[in-house]
Amino acid sequence: MSTIAENIAKVRARIREAAQASQRDSAAIGLLAVSKTKPAAAIREAFASGQRDFGENYLQEALGKQAELSDLDLIWHFIGPIQSNKTRPLAEHFDWVHSVDRLKIAQRLSEQRPAHLPPLNICLQVNVSGETSKSGCTPEELPALARAVTQLPHLKLRGLMTIPEPTEDPVAQRVPLAQLRELRDGLGMDLDCLSMGMSQDLEAAVAEGATWVRIGSALFGARDYPVNKGSES
Ligand SMILES: *Cc1c(COP(=O)(O)O)cnc(C)c1O
Repeated sequence: MSTIAENIAKVRARIREAAQASQRDSAAIGLLAVSKTKPAAAIREAFASGQRDFGENYLQEALGKQAELSDLDLIWHFIGPIQSNKTRPLAEHFDWVHSVDRLKIAQRLSEQRPAHLPPLNICLQVNVSGETSKSGCTPEELPALARAVTQLPHLKLRGLMTIPEPTEDPVAQRVPLAQLRELRDGLGMDLDCLSMGMSQDLEAAVAEGATWVRIGSALFGARDYPVNKGSES
């Protein structure tokens, strides 16, 4: 087995064990393979192990890989910061966008979604604990943003996403993840997705109700260049 195939098997086992520990059905937890900075060949290898959903952070990089991999039936998720002048390729080339945090972006994505494609699946990114990440709406802004996004014809609001401040403490990890779940439940909107959990806090996220875990380094190894490449999206 290749390393990527082994890693996928290990991460799937982690998801199953975490689901079991909190009496959840592991089928309700999707594995989003975060392939940013990794070559198309790595995605091809993951695909050979049954992986279909891939997450990318940088638009130009993602478009290049999509072109190289057009022979595969992949589901593409955008999870990085969004510039308002870059929404058209997102609307045209992705199935999901997890990082919508303001109405202007949502409106542009809806207007620019091609008519022949199904509605673009949207998660609203929330900055739950208001610390490191500059991205994400505030918990106070969320209800009005969510209501407005549900009115947009070519989007389908699926749920919420967050990127908490990294910590290795498994108890502290659960605090912002529980907050995201409570915010989702508080909207009373029947949203089926919570996009939360990365390589380090997968177990905490599953315990708090994650339906998408976004896993990069545990699948593809450490990244060679830092995730903050400046303003490109
Ligand atoms: C890079 C990234 C991930 C994956 O992080 P790992 O720690 O490598 O698993 C998940 N979500 C977002 C938004 C990311 O940018």
